Amino acid sequence: MKLVDAHFHLDLQKDCQAVIAECEAKAIYTIAVTNAPSVFSHTQRLTVNTKYVRAAIGLHPELVATHAHELPELLRMMEQTRYVGEVGLDYVTTDAPIRSSQRRIFEATLARCAELGGKIMTVHSRRAAVDVLACVGSAFPGTVILHWFSGALRDLRAGLNAGCYFSVNPAMLRSDRGRALVREIPRTRVLTETDGPFVEVEGRRATPPDVIHAVNGLAEIWNTEPAEAAAQILSNFRTIVETK
Ligand code: MN
Repeated sequence: MKLVDAHFHLDLQKDCQAVIAECEAKAIYTIAVTNAPSVFSHTQRLTVNTKYVRAAIGLHPELVATHAHELPELLRMMEQTRYVGEVGLDYVTTDAPIRSSQRRIFEATLARCAELGGKIMTVHSRRAAVDVLACVGSAFPGTVILHWFSGALRDLRAGLNAGCYFSVNPAMLRSDRGRALVREIPRTRVLTETDGPFVEVEGRRATPPDVIHAVNGLAEIWNTEPAEAAAQILSNFRTIVETK
């Protein structure tokens, strides 16, 4: 059974090589997000010969206070990979200049993605779904995956109308609210993720094989077998990857 981890922090693992080897051996398609351009090259080198693990370049919204100066590097290095993340907005901060810096960076990233075409973005939108969707717009020429979505139902619907995908992790499926949101997403727009090491499974930090817990949760919601849920997720991932 092939699995998909559409949002995983490979560079925050103790033994990156062991995690990569496991993803390759178990056939787990993994988008290895990075939080700043200055750490992207390391992940890129680790994944140069991998089939299943793919490096993404990002600039995490929670890091803009210290890493905003890396924006030119982000825009320049985006040519080196099809995958972009972790990017987006995080309005846990109420600091207006920081929020505005986040928007400036996210908008520049989206514009560069549109220019290059065919990008697959994994996007953070905590407490900022409305502005994330306003930035993305309705005709973005690429794929936006809203990772660990926790916004309002109307925002989820706006995301669906804009063509977004949603990557679902085991923590989301443990909450009633998370499951209620997931029920609203058509099966063809769902992906799985771990967001390891930030999500815990069975008292330890999640790694890509733990997406099986998200698959099992989705199978329950969809009233189907885990193998069938996994096949749907894989088909969704292939649709994205095969779309230019
Ligand atoms: Mn993350």
